[in-house]
Amino acid sequence: QPVLAVVGRPNVGKSTLVNRILRRRAAVVQDTPGVTRDRVAYDAEWAGRRFALVDTGGWEPNSSGLRAAVSAQAEMAMSTADAVLLVVDATVGATETDEAAARVLRRSKRPVLLAANKVDDERLVADTAALWSLGLGEPYPVSALHGRNSGDLLDAVVRTLPDSPGEAGTVAGPRRVALIGKPNVGKSSLLNKIAGEDRSVVHESAGTTVDPVDSLVELDGQTWRFVDTAGIRRRVQLASGTEYYASLRTKAAIESSEVVIVLVDASEPLSEQDLRVLTMVVESGRACVLVLNKWDLVDHERRYELERELDRGLVRIRWAERVNVSARTGRAVRKLAPAMRTALESWDKRIPTGQLNSWLSEVIAATPPPVRGGKQPKVLFATQARVRPPTVVLFSTGFLEAGYRRFLERRLRERFGFPGSPVRINVRVRQ
Ligand code: GDP
Repeated sequence: QPVLAVVGRPNVGKSTLVNRILRRRAAVVQDTPGVTRDRVAYDAEWAGRRFALVDTGGWEPNSSGLRAAVSAQAEMAMSTADAVLLVVDATVGATETDEAAARVLRRSKRPVLLAANKVDDERLVADTAALWSLGLGEPYPVSALHGRNSGDLLDAVVRTLPDSPGEAGTVAGPRRVALIGKPNVGKSSLLNKIAGEDRSVVHESAGTTVDPVDSLVELDGQTWRFVDTAGIRRRVQLASGTEYYASLRTKAAIESSEVVIVLVDASEPLSEQDLRVLTMVVESGRACVLVLNKWDLVDHERRYELERELDRGLVRIRWAERVNVSARTGRAVRKLAPAMRTALESWDKRIPTGQLNSWLSEVIAATPPPVRGGKQPKVLFATQARVRPPTVVLFSTGFLEAGYRRFLERRLRERFGFPGSPVRINVRVRQ
């Protein structure tokens, strides 16, 4: 979701305006009571558009003088947010500090809106015309205290915000599953098993909406679309393909799925080919269930070896849901659908901005990011920009090294879960 930062010198009513926006149901705040001091970002919604609203008040350094502080705040807002709202006090007019902030903001390529606050009375509207001098376009007269005209301001805000990037897998209908794995791991056996030897493969090519190469399968009270099962069912065709062709086909199946079932033959050592398939899944950002098949052939000794192989091989996909099955005997096959559901729930999950930021301030207070080039990066706030997969954007004053990002991901998973889904952490650094 896009980010709107609210900037302004102290006492212009910045926080009142933020609260006003959040309180008048323009916004939904999902706050956890308790830690509030470091919380600077909130979930807001207006006219069906969701955005993160960031109160830059918390960033004010206190030593460098007011003008420098407000300019620095504007600078920071500019480099982290998609749009900036500068709040000035209409009863005071544009001060030097406001002008300094406006200068910074005018340099930005980001859209900037100007709110003239404390216009509690219609008669004061005329005075706000003087604020055109800030060079930020039309001033929006508002009264944060009374709520006057804040709707017009929000209309302007949502018109200004960029569209959020498209999210994968938002197509309606049954959830899409890719069943993949190297030849002979038991894909077709498993598909037949869960489809009850074809009986519950519902209308394989019914109507025009179902791609004939897909199978609709009823599983655990839910219909699933297994994509590109033609290759699995008509095995002769697949066998004639080269490995290159097969890998393209696997890739395409992953791309058109939401959750991937990766089949591995548990009775054999984990192979290069298995690892290549798993890497494809990690890179795709899809939810994942790792299915260890042929469990009927796994004895005590093999089981021990397998754990060691998985420990080594699955570093990047430890988060996957795991099920040990036997397509031959039917062992644990009924656990497949619950695992897919769990994975998809994680994949769809959105953490409210308030909760995310109280988590973040706790973690950072306990373990601050490592110093780089003599500087301690300051992480300002976080927002979950996307789902499918969950993608958290951290706004920081400096680069965060990969090790620290992985540490944050571990902590994020400890707090919020996400079993079966990858989680992405992106860092936006101010220039
Ligand atoms: P695909 O190439 O991935 O579709 O694999 P198939 O489903 O054709 O299975 C390959 C071979 O493994 C066949 O001989 C199956 O009978 C056998 N197989 C599949 N699943 C199991 C299982 O759970 N246990 C055992 N013992 N054999 C299996």
